Amino acid sequence: MARAFINISGLVQGIGFRPFIYRIAVRNGLRGYVRNLGDAGVEIDVEGERSSIEAFLVDLHEKKPPIVFYTKVDVGWLVAKAGYSEFNIDMSDLGKRAVKLSIIPPDITVCPDCLEEIFDPANRHHLYPFTCCAICGPRLTTITDLPYDRERTTMEIFPLCPDCGREYWDPLDRRFNAQTICCPTCGPRMTLYTTEREVVEGDPLVNAARLLEEGSIFAIKGIGGIHLAVKTTDDDSILRLRERRRKPGKPFALMSEDIEAVEGFAHIGEKERELLTSYARPIVALKKRAPFPLSEYISPGLHTVGVMLPYSGIHQILFHYFNESALVMTSANYPGEPMFTSNDVAFGKLRGTVDYLLLHDRVIHARCDDSVVRIVDNAPLFLRRTRGYVPMPIDLPFTSERTVVSVGPELTSTAALLKMNRCYLTQHLGDIESPEAVDFLEEAIRHLVKVLRGGRADAIACDLHPQFLSRSVAERLAEENDAQLVEVQHHHAHLASVMADNGLKPDTETVGIICDGYGYGSDGEAWGGEILVGGYNGFKRAGHVERQPMPGGDIASIRYGRMLQGILYGSMPDKDLRHLLTENYLDGYGQGEKEVDTVFSQLEKRIYTPWTASVGRLLDAVSCLLGVSNTRTYEGEGAMKLEAFATQGKPGSTSLPVEIVEKGGSLVLKTTQMVKGVLDLLGETSKANLAYRFQADLSEGLAEMAVRTALSEGIKTVAFSGGVANNHMITETIRRRVETHGLKFLRHRKVPAGDGGISLGQAVVAALRES
Ligand SMILES: [Zn+2]
Ligand SMILES: [Zn+2]
Repeated sequence: MARAFINISGLVQGIGFRPFIYRIAVRNGLRGYVRNLGDAGVEIDVEGERSSIEAFLVDLHEKKPPIVFYTKVDVGWLVAKAGYSEFNIDMSDLGKRAVKLSIIPPDITVCPDCLEEIFDPANRHHLYPFTCCAICGPRLTTITDLPYDRERTTMEIFPLCPDCGREYWDPLDRRFNAQTICCPTCGPRMTLYTTEREVVEGDPLVNAARLLEEGSIFAIKGIGGIHLAVKTTDDDSILRLRERRRKPGKPFALMSEDIEAVEGFAHIGEKERELLTSYARPIVALKKRAPFPLSEYISPGLHTVGVMLPYSGIHQILFHYFNESALVMTSANYPGEPMFTSNDVAFGKLRGTVDYLLLHDRVIHARCDDSVVRIVDNAPLFLRRTRGYVPMPIDLPFTSERTVVSVGPELTSTAALLKMNRCYLTQHLGDIESPEAVDFLEEAIRHLVKVLRGGRADAIACDLHPQFLSRSVAERLAEENDAQLVEVQHHHAHLASVMADNGLKPDTETVGIICDGYGYGSDGEAWGGEILVGGYNGFKRAGHVERQPMPGGDIASIRYGRMLQGILYGSMPDKDLRHLLTENYLDGYGQGEKEVDTVFSQLEKRIYTPWTASVGRLLDAVSCLLGVSNTRTYEGEGAMKLEAFATQGKPGSTSLPVEIVEKGGSLVLKTTQMVKGVLDLLGETSKANLAYRFQADLSEGLAEMAVRTALSEGIKTVAFSGGVANNHMITETIRRRVETHGLKFLRHRKVPAGDGGISLGQAVVAALRES
């Protein structure tokens, strides 16, 4: 006889873990108990034959539900004398004096067991879209407060029927204590509406599938939000959706029934397959097949297409009836506004956009968009980390004495709560540029702090930019909490983010290559292609790409011709430049030749012309120069299309003049002569080769500045962050160059390289800043 006392931490609460323990304990003939602990861990005490306990420990690892993961399993062997008579689940946390659940699981795709029931004609869940169990289904989006039980979820208006009640209270059932379970008798229902709110009679999912096949545009309410859906095989339907939403070029994500369907139109590598089928079910960027069998208007000008597999019963059943390989599934929100979730708002906002609305009567408490992941340099990189991942924490390499809330930057934002040795990022919040978006930011922070029991914050972190709207939320929270307001420079936050993402300790220093579109610099200037050296506590700007004029300010980030003109200005006689631009590049302007002359006058008089070290703007200009893209219709378009175009090119023997100079104690990568070099080689080699060449040489130049800095400072690591790190080729080239010098290369793994990862950096910097 033996006894083992086991402590487990990880994601082990709110997902049917204790019933799992109960089952494997009973199966192995053990006695004792399992209970939740307040720190998100679980405690197990078992007594029985030593060999049975050993078999139990094997089951603990081999038979666990797929979403469960352990960060620590401590086993202590004791003398058997507790004298338990049976195995029990200690339910004291269900009572009023609850042991607090401190990790809320993310929303999880419908599990194989539930899916089997959905398609089993004899099962009471047959074709029921809201089927779920203790290990699967919505969590974050449904929880309204803690402790986590049905009265504090959006399921509270659906009382359990006797059948569901029986399963809920049976520890041997996989729906034991599952707060969101329901069935056709007691749960939510789907309804198909016309835009006039008339109910379409008949099975809503059967009818929706048929109408989608006929080319209708749909709003489909899912788990954490509303999608716009349309068929993918017909150009007209997609163009109609683009026109109605005024989204001329932004890539649309797709949903397909299964891997086989996806293989018909995209290439899937091993890592991509793993992501597609994971319980989080993110959108995965895949390389399109050539020729692409679906409409080219899905992701025009790009070599990739974002694809996800169904993640709820709603989507599973819809695809059961829908007879094509994919549907467009794009978020129904308007640019700059948060995703709307209520049926009433949907009817109002989508009038004129959709033909039908497929809705249900469960409220979405916390909205959550789809996550987007891409394989970059052989490892997954988040372009957006949200559904399926939030609010799982990022483990930190230190324990903070302070609790911090960070409000994130301005675009593609997230916020975060840092407590002890963990940082919890919110769902994707989008661009914080409107009053609605500011409200959403504040609501998301309050929800996160509430469900994680964050308590009072000691510091609130925000961007250094004096005019970001997110700052108002930070100021309000600072006052409310009587907390310190900590401003963090944008690129320093990126550096801290990639360091924390890689578990670097507080006293380490690293060199960061931080490249993106825009960040407010410590000197008030526009930064964007930076070599920083430092750590969480501070940094020095060791280098940057050459500053370039942005004639007309922000308008130059929309009309790429302006940026190109600014970069080439002074590198050749004005009349030659004017001739070049008016003959070839008027599409990069809004008002033709007149605008070219206006820009000349702005450049000459140095009026309305801020300067920027942005890599994003540089890539826009080269994209324009090579005829790839001339006007921004969505964020990052110029750089994304240039990357796609460069995949058709080859290294070749040509090279551009890459020169690094020292200016005022800083390294500067000269970019005008690189762009001029591309111009000079036009006609000698293909444009695709030049796109390849420019990206490669830019990467070499950036890496060279970082390596020089690391060697002179005696630092052994170089980290890469910022939106430009989403580019596969640039990341790979920089990594190779850095490793050639025996230095260690770090890139993002758990949070986005783009601005979605900023909140982590802000929080870590504020946690370690002297108060
Ligand atoms: Zn399930
Ligand atoms: Zn029921």
